[in-house]
Amino acid sequence: MKFNTRLLHGKAIQKNSKGEILPPISQVSAFRYESMEELEKIFQHKRMGYAYTRIGNPTLSAFEQRVKELEGGADAICCSSGMSAITASLLTVLAGGDEIVAGSGLYGGTIGLFHDLEKLGIHTVSAEQMTEEELDGLVTERTKLIFAEVISNPSLKVLDIAGTAAYAHARGIPLFVDATTATPCLVRPLTLGADVVIHSTSKYLNGGGNSIGGIIVDGGHIRWDPERYPALEEFARYGSMAFSVRLRTDLWENLGGCMAPMNAFLNYIGLDTLGLRMERICHNADVLAHALNELPQLEVNYLTLPAHPYHSFVESQLNGLGGGILNFRAGTKEKAFRILNELKYGLIASNIGDVRTLVIHPASTLYIHNAKEEREAAGVYEDMIRVSVGIEDAEDLVEDFICAVKKAEQYDGT
Ligand code: PLP
Repeated sequence: MKFNTRLLHGKAIQKNSKGEILPPISQVSAFRYESMEELEKIFQHKRMGYAYTRIGNPTLSAFEQRVKELEGGADAICCSSGMSAITASLLTVLAGGDEIVAGSGLYGGTIGLFHDLEKLGIHTVSAEQMTEEELDGLVTERTKLIFAEVISNPSLKVLDIAGTAAYAHARGIPLFVDATTATPCLVRPLTLGADVVIHSTSKYLNGGGNSIGGIIVDGGHIRWDPERYPALEEFARYGSMAFSVRLRTDLWENLGGCMAPMNAFLNYIGLDTLGLRMERICHNADVLAHALNELPQLEVNYLTLPAHPYHSFVESQLNGLGGGILNFRAGTKEKAFRILNELKYGLIASNIGDVRTLVIHPASTLYIHNAKEEREAAGVYEDMIRVSVGIEDAEDLVEDFICAVKKAEQYDGT
């Protein structure tokens, strides 16, 4: 089965008891049983079943099974948000005194989380390029995890997944990747050696901009060494599933960041069109980036532009697609604001991965709490606009953006 057929007819598509084509929405807090013995067995994990939605729910399971299959994982656990998925996955493995080596140019919320983890004694160092030489200078005995975004938002750096996984594994370190912007349509990181894949489902997996969520997919590849990872010691008997078992039966339950059943349903139906949407979004982004790149006053950042430093990954790793995000620098913050205000179809909103084109000035919003140096290290500049390209007609988007740039120029008579 190819991508779209597997999406709709894969093993993960369950048969529902009344023949429903979609999973019923189990919008309940708890599940009742005829006898106390039955419920006891569920709590003892001796019988499959559901007790309480924070620790499991059939609608969440239906969504998890599909993402697990799409990514080729051993287990998948969905969370209340992308940030909750990143937090739960890191805390399942790490303890005070550990270090993370993280890619640069990451989503601002993740950078904020790394600051929060400092207070728990978990230190993060940032790798500009993730090359072997650079990693040699950053990895220490305390490094317990490498974390990176597959295509970083918004800087558009691409992670060499296979190369980084090989480097990490040779040193007994797992590679966790945030694949939100790439989606399994562009790349399935577990097949290239990543150990855990995280998505903010609020973006492309959902696609409709209607619910916040996150998901963690465990490849089930790692034999966790309990001495290096004491947080997993108690779960060592589960072998390569120790991460998922601790996450599902311990940390995720206790942190309380489950996905709402209604959101799992909305994500489930969003997934149906993931392939179609990504094809169209990537086509539009490519057309728009090339058109904007013709304007000498703009500096455009998009992966399919031939001069892009990560251009070669489009063919070698990203299924020939450049993703749905592009950025451009307008010259000054004022010009950037004017362009944003002139757009008709690009909606000013703080999200990505919607079917509608969304635009934002990251420096004054998403990165407002980051220091200038940190912003620039993340590829965010005062004059930069981020565009999350939607599924509108490419010709209309090009016309809208070119008109907005021209109108913005007229203000100062240039
Ligand atoms: N990861 C990436 C790459 C993101 O862009 C975002 C949000 O923009 C997140 C994680 C956080 O996701 P959420 O907003 O669902 O918590």
